[in-house]
Amino acid sequence: MQCVKCGAKAVYYSVYSGHSFCAKCFMKSVEQRVRATINRYKLFDPEDRIVIAISGGKDSQVLATIIAKVEKDFPGATLSALIVDEGVPGYRDFGLRRSKELCDELGIELTTTSFKELFGYSLPEIVSIAEQKGVSLGACTFCGILRRRAINVKAKELGATKVATGHNLDDEAQTALMNLLRGDVVRLLRLGPKPVEEFPGFVPRVKPLRYIPEKETTLYAYFKGYPLYEVECPYVRESMRDEIRSILNEIEGRHPGTKYAIVRAADRLSAMGASLKVRVGSCKYCGEPTSRDVCRACELLEVLGVTS
Ligand code: SF4
Ligand code: ZN
Ligand code: ZN
Repeated sequence: MQCVKCGAKAVYYSVYSGHSFCAKCFMKSVEQRVRATINRYKLFDPEDRIVIAISGGKDSQVLATIIAKVEKDFPGATLSALIVDEGVPGYRDFGLRRSKELCDELGIELTTTSFKELFGYSLPEIVSIAEQKGVSLGACTFCGILRRRAINVKAKELGATKVATGHNLDDEAQTALMNLLRGDVVRLLRLGPKPVEEFPGFVPRVKPLRYIPEKETTLYAYFKGYPLYEVECPYVRESMRDEIRSILNEIEGRHPGTKYAIVRAADRLSAMGASLKVRVGSCKYCGEPTSRDVCRACELLEVLGVTS
């Protein structure tokens, strides 16, 4: 097989495009598609202060690498990175080290924060308080809500006007399906490619890797020589996302294109839901933006008797 672009020996065949690529042209094609997503959906403005939410995993390494290149097209923009440590022993250590190393290589300033710093407790401590109090919410529920809060609070401190996350096509297809299965129509209608509507106090998020399948982010990281080693979070098996991931991978194996189809359907739904008006005010406890009187983060912390 030959590379469709340069005729060199191909190392990757894309089922979606029907084309084969050598490593160099494959990486170029990923970068071009990320740029196309950024331009098409106007993910960045010329003067943006972009903060990359980094984890040290392969997707965020790929994101940081490509955004560092793309940022050169936006000379007025600035770029930095933020990592949140949930405090799960042994889990985030590798990611913290790797993020520091990569940010140093790319010349990006990295800020580190943690659940402990922001909420007074690590995730395992919060999970254990929840168990003692008989609160039957999984670790991933606490983690998701508190991580979102942590990123928004810290991004604001850094003066961010956009937060870029490393969600890939697989993540987005999983999220769309999870929202559907939970009957969460509002979230489903808001899962679009454009920066989330700017609420006062909420830094808009963008997902430049949204149309890149996980297989391709992995391959890009591999060709870059980045470490692919990832420590699995001990709570991952409890999560609904993990089940959805397996189901989707199984269906995709038999029906290639399913993940794209789901994300494209979510795009169309979000275009229809663009006029959806969600009342957004400020949480009466923490002042963070929320559509309720008390935000989800404060509600959870209050149930646990823990204040932020
Ligand atoms: Fe957080 Fe759950 Fe992911 Fe672990 S698996 S990092 S607890 S969301
Ligand atoms: Zn080539
Ligand atoms: Zn609050």
